[in-house]
Amino acid sequence: MLVEVRACGVCASDLHVLQGVTPHGPQLPQILGHEPAGVVAEVGAEVSDWHPGDRVAILMGRFCHVCPACLMGRQNLCSSLSVPGIDEDGAMAGYVLADAEVLVPIPLDVPFEQAAITTDAVATPYHALKRVGIGENVTVAVYGLGGLGMHAILLAKLAGAQVIGVDLDPVNLERALDWGADEVVDASDGQPARRIRALTGGGSDRALEFVGSAAAVDQAVKSLAPGGRAAIVGLSAERLATVPIARFVAQETEVVGSFGSTPQDLGELFDLLEDGRLDLSRSVTATIALDGVHDALRALETREGHPIRTVVTDFA
Ligand SMILES: [Zn+2]
Ligand SMILES: [Zn+2]
Repeated sequence: MLVEVRACGVCASDLHVLQGVTPHGPQLPQILGHEPAGVVAEVGAEVSDWHPGDRVAILMGRFCHVCPACLMGRQNLCSSLSVPGIDEDGAMAGYVLADAEVLVPIPLDVPFEQAAITTDAVATPYHALKRVGIGENVTVAVYGLGGLGMHAILLAKLAGAQVIGVDLDPVNLERALDWGADEVVDASDGQPARRIRALTGGGSDRALEFVGSAAAVDQAVKSLAPGGRAAIVGLSAERLATVPIARFVAQETEVVGSFGSTPQDLGELFDLLEDGRLDLSRSVTATIALDGVHDALRALETREGHPIRTVVTDFA
């Protein structure tokens, strides 16, 4: 499928490509962009379900469809996975090629920029929440309140969970309360887990880590109640080191990694968007032209303006 790109989100992972810290190492020079949506321009000879003019969001992943992970529906773990925009040329261009299997139709009322960011900024925390399992009255601590963390709050509240947001930045903490977090914890003393255990009377049931640092993972694990489960989403070259093994064992603590999302996740999210249950009207901080990407990346790095998502919508 050839898709004319109408919107593509700018993500912290774009910075990882620039810094060379992606899982496989980028192939520079490389076109960025792994959060796209657009309009089908041309379909391949063997494609029957899509037509030129269809509005689509694209899950950026090339899957083999035949390895054990793909056959289990865990395409994000495909043994030959390559992510356009991370491992190879991406979508910050007028057009992008994609397999028909990774396209999702965009509901009529959903604008391109919201559809675009759903493919990563929303789908990645959605997948992480499914990895840990949440529901009514489950408490979940969310470490790191950037684009992914903020959407974790939205999605966790949608599922009826009690949410505690954790960040160093007072503006992010204030915004988390605005977006529905029940409590927020300022992590600037380096010990947010203590405060979380006090607030919850013994620890949170779940924790999500979006920061990508060993210190934040350590705190996320330490904030758990006995039987608790944490998902690590933030990427880092650091090693895991946290509570004593005896405590980990005696409390049956679970820690899982969570990487990207699957076509199934994306389908479920677009159903929520179509039903109007998931409201992303506050998620796009700014729309820019392609030549503004460098400034947008700098702002992400310095956190200037506290962007949730900046989206490129003008590729002229
Ligand atoms: Zn991303
Ligand atoms: Zn595969």
